[in-house]
Amino acid sequence: MKEVLLIHYHEIALKGKNRPFFEKKLCDNLRSALRLLKSSIQVRRLYGRILVEEVDGVDRDEVRRVVERVFGVSNFSHAWEIPSDLDRIEEVIGERLPEQEFDSFAIRARRAYKQFPLKSQQINERLGGFVCEQTGKRVDLTTPDLTIHVEILAERSLVYLGKHTGAGGLPVGVSGRMLALLSGGIDSPVAAWRMLRRGARISFVHFHSYPFTSADSQEKVLELAGVLAQWGGPLEVMMVAFGDLQREIVARTPGPLRVILYRRFMARIAARLALKKKVEALVTGESLAQVASQTLSNMASVDPVIDLPILRPLVGFDKQEIIEESKRIGTFDISIQPHDDCCSYLMPPNPATSSSHRDCQRAEEVLDIDSLVEEAVDRVESRVFDQVCARS
Ligand code: ATP
Ligand code: MG
Repeated sequence: MKEVLLIHYHEIALKGKNRPFFEKKLCDNLRSALRLLKSSIQVRRLYGRILVEEVDGVDRDEVRRVVERVFGVSNFSHAWEIPSDLDRIEEVIGERLPEQEFDSFAIRARRAYKQFPLKSQQINERLGGFVCEQTGKRVDLTTPDLTIHVEILAERSLVYLGKHTGAGGLPVGVSGRMLALLSGGIDSPVAAWRMLRRGARISFVHFHSYPFTSADSQEKVLELAGVLAQWGGPLEVMMVAFGDLQREIVARTPGPLRVILYRRFMARIAARLALKKKVEALVTGESLAQVASQTLSNMASVDPVIDLPILRPLVGFDKQEIIEESKRIGTFDISIQPHDDCCSYLMPPNPATSSSHRDCQRAEEVLDIDSLVEEAVDRVESRVFDQVCARS
């Protein structure tokens, strides 16, 4: 008897000619995440599922924690690979039952190997009788507490009890590269996580006002990147010193537009960094009308300054929904630590709630945009996180 992991992915993403690409990425991502637990772990495709072998000896909870964070997995189970023999199958089920808490159960047999002498329904009946006899529990075919799966293949069978829910989404790496603007607040890590979940590979950029403010925001962003690397590592964090540029904006442009102008420069600098990394979009944590800088017209005043699309996955989310998601993904406790936000440093008393690209262009006429961007880009510092740093 061999212990394995059986992984199911979303069929919907697999239509057509993208299927092998999708499956290969998912296998690669599982391999690199699981090999941190045991280097000899093997991952391969098996009839529209993925089979992970050589997992024996690794703590099952550890395996579960890792696989739960691999996007593209819809559900997974610890399974036992045994000869296709009903006596052996009963024996394995009998051994596993004491670990389970349940009042009702169902057997779901699938017979991929059609030469097997019993049909699926006959297998269900025989094994159902066996479990009733062993435990005295009742059969419930509609909402059982425990589902016992039996798959009869040609050379062997797989038996597994119950399923763990996976992270869903698409494997990281199938949807291109994006650069996420990570502030240290609650929203932007959730926005980045949403794009990782759609299969994007993500790098981060953070703008800080150090030495005019403390370095807290940078520490927080590194911690947040560590958490996100568990979901989609390896990933790079770039730190941009933004304080001098902010002071220039404050000295020479109208107060009400200041925050929008900060955002336009963040977008320009990020787009320049993106050029070097084959990035195809920026990602922000903005949500419509959450604060003055996130009204429709203020968001629209940022888009025209760069050629890249700016994706805002949280645009239609309420703050409460974002907070709940940040708790689920593990970033909330870090995000709520206090920090000096670069945008509250030199915040105007009366920020504009509406603006236009034209107004902003006029305000920027006094600035040497190219050299301000250039100076910021030249001073970028970067750090790479992989899943190993993330776990340590
Ligand atoms: P967050 O919770 O992500 O900080 P927020 O609701 O506080 O968002 P803002 O501070 O207005 O909103 O920022 C909007 C978005 O702009 C952020 O979600 C982030 O993507 C980007 N952003 C803001 N400040 C920074 C920064 N210092 N560095 C990088 N990105 C930033
Ligand atoms: Mg913020």
